[in-house]
Amino acid sequence: MSIAIPSGLVHNGAGIPDLCSRHGESASVRKPVKFWSKPPAWSYLLIVFGALPFLIVTLILRKEVQAQAWPFCPQCVKLRKNRLIIGISLMALLPLSFVLAGVAGDAGPVLVMLAFFLAIAGLLVVTRGIYRILPWGFASRDGSTVDFPKAHPNFVAAAQAAHAQAMQQYAAWHASQQAAYAQQQAAYQPPQF
Ligand SMILES: [Zn+2]
Repeated sequence: MSIAIPSGLVHNGAGIPDLCSRHGESASVRKPVKFWSKPPAWSYLLIVFGALPFLIVTLILRKEVQAQAWPFCPQCVKLRKNRLIIGISLMALLPLSFVLAGVAGDAGPVLVMLAFFLAIAGLLVVTRGIYRILPWGFASRDGSTVDFPKAHPNFVAAAQAAHAQAMQQYAAWHASQQAAYAQQQAAYQPPQF
């Protein structure tokens, strides 16, 4: 299921449920998370001109929404640990391959090449294991919402409830402000001359 949470409610925490977005289970830890927008499709064309123009445009256009305390369940914590261990192990094969290549003779360069690709795969696995990526949320292109395209149904229901509650609280606050203003107006005595 997908859900878009207003960025303000992600930032102040009012729209964040107590469940993780991936598994829909109760949070055991909360971590600060920055949600970034995806680069627009056309920006990938800039890769033709090199990585730098692409990076610059991506950084300029990127919207960021920060959550002070994003919920993660025990499964998320385990997933993170496993991905970091697998990813770092794959990356560690690269220096090992240099050592082995010295004694492998003709097979040496092939060994290093293979280890190089495994190291890149390892880097991708590590990236997918970090707290910023695990919730699978992305700031919208205009930065007004944080979108969760593959959220757990329990998370979606809880986030909708949190949103409704935040709106109610805002409406109550707004009404009390108006009441206070009306009272002020009523109590106001124009000066007599
Ligand atoms: Zn989880």
